[in-house]
Amino acid sequence: MFLLVLFTVVSVATTAFGLVLRACQAAHVARHRDAVPPAFAATVSLAEHQRAADYERARLRLGAAASLFGLAVALGWAFFGYDALYSGIAGLVPRGLSRSVLFLVAVGAVSWVLELPFAVLRTFGVEQRFGFNRTRPGGFALDRLKGALVSLGVGAPLLYGVLWLMRQPGPWWLWLWLGLVALMLAMIEIYPRWIAPLFNRFTPLEGTLRTRVEGLLRRCGFESGGLFVMDASRRSAHGNAYFTGLGRSKRIVLFDTLIAGNSEAELEAVLAHELGHFKLNHIGTGLLRAGATLFLGCLAVGVLCREPWLLPGFGIVHQDDALALIVCVLTLQMAGPVLGIAGNWISRRHEYQADDFARRMVGAEPMISALVRLARDNASTLTPDPLYALVNFSHPPVPLRVAALTEG
Ligand SMILES: [Zn+2]
Repeated sequence: MFLLVLFTVVSVATTAFGLVLRACQAAHVARHRDAVPPAFAATVSLAEHQRAADYERARLRLGAAASLFGLAVALGWAFFGYDALYSGIAGLVPRGLSRSVLFLVAVGAVSWVLELPFAVLRTFGVEQRFGFNRTRPGGFALDRLKGALVSLGVGAPLLYGVLWLMRQPGPWWLWLWLGLVALMLAMIEIYPRWIAPLFNRFTPLEGTLRTRVEGLLRRCGFESGGLFVMDASRRSAHGNAYFTGLGRSKRIVLFDTLIAGNSEAELEAVLAHELGHFKLNHIGTGLLRAGATLFLGCLAVGVLCREPWLLPGFGIVHQDDALALIVCVLTLQMAGPVLGIAGNWISRRHEYQADDFARRMVGAEPMISALVRLARDNASTLTPDPLYALVNFSHPPVPLRVAALTEG
């Protein structure tokens, strides 16, 4: 049972740490609620600043409740859920690959149902209250259903493959790693072509903005597989832009909500920032990092999953590769928070570098005004707690980005 005790201690400790950080963030935001930071006095009104503070605190409260609920669910699974569900399925399906896959799919299905209430609260509670939600219950349900079907369509064959590999002699975990890397690379091609269009409509960017963007692409020496506008406004008023793909299939996607609120100069700056990520090899090194992390994960699973103490260590009675796989993942997940903090640190450095690239391409002015507008339109707080930001933020707080751009 030692692994179960360790898992419980680590889960409780990370949840408690998360709650303390949220409390710090809520207190910090509340303390600065009544004054717009001097650097933004000319661009952000007090009412907007206070709305951002209230939005942040509402999200923190919901996040805290969700993390406590998540802890209860994780411990419930670990202490009796896995064994109980496995017993139920073992009574219906004879031992074999199908039973293992069915068990893992059932775990996924139960988790999906348990996560649903918080997704509903987020969309129709907080997001609705602050005017960001654009979906109706019908559309929301359809999205969830489509998401589940895509996960099942990709996940079930993948699980069959993994469990089949686990039965093969030799270094099966190495083949697993190669397979997962191949899948990751294939997904870069598959996702924008076949999966993303299930959820949104992508139309080629047109008009004067297109001409302007093409000029920017030429200046940056960038060959694109396409410039697209995504109808994000059907779900949410939050604006964003992203960059996806490799080689010739790489594409730039702008949310229609972003286009609606920004000047062409600001949009050009946002795109220059995205191009910076590409030009500075953030995409390529990100894939390399993911591949290396996957390698270590597969190696660890390969070593751990055959150990006779693994399942008893978690207090699990049944023996099955599917259970071994889950326990391996739970064990490795304990390193998750540390990896997350390291990943965020790297990501924030990349954001500064991409901002700097944009500054060199289009100047600091439009990049700064685009950042301020994004923060204002998305009601992002301008006064985050430094420790909270250090642990949780994948992007540096806007005041720090603006300061870095101003200093050049
Ligand atoms: Zn970025």
